[in-house]
Amino acid sequence: MSTCYMCDQEATTMEHAPPKCIFPEKKDLSSYDDYRQGLITVPSCEEHNTTKSKDDEYLLYLLAASATSSVIGLNQFLTKVKRSAERKPGLMVMVASNAKPAQIFDFDKNLWEEGLGIYVDAPRIDTTLSKCARALYFHETQRKFSGAVKVITPFTQYIDSQFNATVSSALAQAEDFFAIHPSFGNNPDVFCYKFTEGENTAMMLLYFYTSTKILVQLDKR
Ligand SMILES: [Zn+2]
Repeated sequence: MSTCYMCDQEATTMEHAPPKCIFPEKKDLSSYDDYRQGLITVPSCEEHNTTKSKDDEYLLYLLAASATSSVIGLNQFLTKVKRSAERKPGLMVMVASNAKPAQIFDFDKNLWEEGLGIYVDAPRIDTTLSKCARALYFHETQRKFSGAVKVITPFTQYIDSQFNATVSSALAQAEDFFAIHPSFGNNPDVFCYKFTEGENTAMMLLYFYTSTKILVQLDKR
């Protein structure tokens, strides 16, 4: 009997890390690509398996619509997100009702572009990503991670220039640090990650839809 990656209860299901909804279904692709090959799963109890949860869907909304999204991410927005918004409009209404035109700085092109700013429920996103990080840690080490998890995302970096600079420099430093590390994940166009572990801390760099980078710091003390 194996136990849950989050608690000591018996594991009765497998949880996907990151959530399965991030990975496009074949029916939503015009190509013959399969982005659901060899997805990462960890043993989970009923309570901690968030399959089909609203939080996972909210993460998908933000990742797919993000200014740093890719063609595959946008495709996922135009198919899966659109379909689920038509079925259950609540979440999309919540996201869209706060949308305002905004100037968005494109770090790759080094210029400002017209975009749409949306209200981001940062604590909610951080909770979902922290759980994903704990699952990936379990996948890597076969150990549960019970310490503190800190998540640094690019979603709120346009709020003010000071915060913006802090976030982008943290992400850039992490990329430099991880440059020589291999990345893991069978579908890197959708998701891959890098991992390193020291005595007191572990660190992960998550890549969603190639160019949305999220830094995770795991503190074991
Ligand atoms: Zn559990």
